Parts: sequence; C-alpha cells; structure tokens
Amino acid sequence: MDPGNDSARPAVVIDGSLGEGGGQVLRSSLALALVTGRPVHLHSVRAGRAKPGLMRQHLAALQLAAAIGAARVSGAEVGSREIDFIPQTILAGRWQRAIGSAGSTTLVAQTVLPALLVAEGESELVLEGGTHNPLAPPFEFLARSFVPALRAMGAELDVELVRHGFHPAGGGELRVRTRGRPLRPLAILARGELRAIRAQAIVAGLPAHVGERELAVVQQKLGIAKDRCTLVMAENGPGNVLTIDVETGSGVEVIAAFGRLGLPAERVAAEAVRDAKAFLRTPVPVGAHLADQLLLPFALAGGGSFRTLRPTTHTTTNARVIEAFLPVRIDMHDEGEGVWRVDVIRVPD
Ligand code: ATP
Repeated sequence: MDPGNDSARPAVVIDGSLGEGGGQVLRSSLALALVTGRPVHLHSVRAGRAKPGLMRQHLAALQLAAAIGAARVSGAEVGSREIDFIPQTILAGRWQRAIGSAGSTTLVAQTVLPALLVAEGESELVLEGGTHNPLAPPFEFLARSFVPALRAMGAELDVELVRHGFHPAGGGELRVRTRGRPLRPLAILARGELRAIRAQAIVAGLPAHVGERELAVVQQKLGIAKDRCTLVMAENGPGNVLTIDVETGSGVEVIAAFGRLGLPAERVAAEAVRDAKAFLRTPVPVGAHLADQLLLPFALAGGGSFRTLRPTTHTTTNARVIEAFLPVRIDMHDEGEGVWRVDVIRVPD
C-alpha cells in the first residue's frame, strides 16, 4: 500500500528502531497520526526489543486506534515490523476492547486518549486486560500523577479502576471518560513543599501478610504513620504491587514496585523505598516516567515547561517522534545537580 497516494497529506515516516526502539515509538506515532490526521508509515517496529515487531498488546493499541480513526491499516498482525496507518477522522464515543494476554490497559488508553481529549464530544473507553503491569504505568500512576497534570491543562477526564488485572492473568478493567476540550500550556517548574507520603500495597490471590510486610518496611524506612498505609485485597491474582505516593505542592509522584515470584516482600518494599528516597532527595517536580508521558499532551497544547531528572531514552525518543509530527521543538537543558529543564516550544509550521 502506498500511503502517500491515499491522503492529501504526505505520510510521516517513523523508524521504529529510533532511540528506545520499543512500543512507545509505535503508540506515540499512532496517537500523533490520530490527532494530526496525518498518515504514518512505521518500519523496524520495536527493533530494539528481544522479540521485535508487534506483540499482542501493541496490536490491540493499533486496532483500537484504527477503529477510533476509521483508519486504513496495513501490517496489523502479531510480529509485523512495518505498518501503514491512514486515519480519516476521530470518532468520539464508547469504545470497548479486551486486550489479550494481560496487555497493559493504561498504555492502550494512552495511545488513543490524546485524540479523544481534543475531539469534539464525549467518549468512554472500557479496556479489559492488565491494570498493573511491570514496565507500564500502574492504574494509580494514571489516576494520581498523569490525569491531574492533564486536568491542569484544561482536560476533562476521569479514570476508574473497575477490576484489578495483574500480569500474566489479566482480567482487569479500566474505564476512562472524557469530553474533548482544547488543552492549554502548563509550566511545572518547582516542586513546592512536601505535603504527605502515603503507601498502598495491593495483594491479589496471595496472603495478606505479603502486603502487611511491605507496608511495615515503608513505615519503618520512611517514618510514615500506619494510617498513611493501605492494604487492598484484590481479585484476579496472583499479583502484588506496592505504590508510594509523594505528594508535594506540584502534584503526586506515584512510585511503584511489583512483587515477583521468589522475591521476598521486604525486597519489593526496599525497591519502592529506594526510589521514593531518590525522588525525595531531588528538588524536581516531575519524575522520570511522568516526563516522557507529558511531552505529547504538552506538544498538543502548543507548549509548556517542566523540571525533571536527566531525561531517559523514553523521553528523548518520544521527543523525536513528536517533533516529526507537530510544529514544536523540545529542548532539554542540564541545569546542574541532576536537574533538567524541558521546554516544549511551538515553531513555525
Ligand atoms: P516494549 O514491549 O517494546 O518494551 P512497551 O510497549 O511495553 O515496550 P515502552 O516503550 O517500554 O513500552 O514504554 C513504557 C511506558 O510505560 C513508558 O511511557 C514508561 O514511562 C511507562 N512506565 C513504565 N514503568 C512505569 C511506572 N512504574 N510508572 C509509570 N510509568 C511507567
């Protein structure tokens, strides 16, 4: 298929081996193709990964994006490394999908959300699969870190965890409701005062003592009171995640550590505590994960700035994908002592 002949606008060509070379290059490209209405040709999809090409959860994201964009697509199969995606529109409305094999509902949601955030009308996404997958934003991160930042930009949206779903069993359900609104630029430059630290252990299909032991470590190592700690006994196990919320004047940083078979609860808690302490030691308002995820909405708003840690390859890669689609430049400056400033700047089209 020659996408160039199919649309008034030439296709954006994205090399999927760019930078991080993972699923995010694909998801961001689809999100940007939808919002801009520009066709995209992707090659070398996930070339940086041990099993390159589309995996089931990436295919699910592609299929949902295709439905919402009434898009013509080629290469929509597991293992595919070359994709053409030619969107025609953005269809706000109710979209329901089961993402097989506990694929991450939060990552699939982030693929189509930018389009639904700015499209005219109300939308509801009902996604079944994993809600708590290692290497993806857990639901709590979406709800308490990502969504509040979008709301501060003028977005109207709610997220709801209907059922937990852990890798590999899945069986979770995430709902997202939104009404399209223009986004406005945002600056998140200073952290503000520390307001609270809270912890939550979710335990699914495992004994309660797993979570109780994790929370005991958090209380002891971070010196937080018992009433700041919550144990959630969930369905659909086995699975376990410990989240630590660091609430400051600029928002909530949600730090997560996942339980793994054979890893004692105390070690899981030690990982989360280590990451929380590392974040508390720095003055930045935006953590590493939020940094890569904010770039796209900031670019859609036509600008914005934040301070964060040294940009990860997810962040630098996402910046390059965004610059290929939108008239923005994303500058990243080392301000010293581990602090980086990121500016998303509109440039002439
Ligand atoms: P692949 O299978 O190709 O490795 P993927 O589709 O699983 O890729 P990545 O390209 O690695 O995904 O992107 C993962 C995304 O999940 C990034 O945006 C990253 O910031 C986010 N993420 C990972 N772990 C967390 C976490 N603990 N909290 C918040 N976000 C996270």
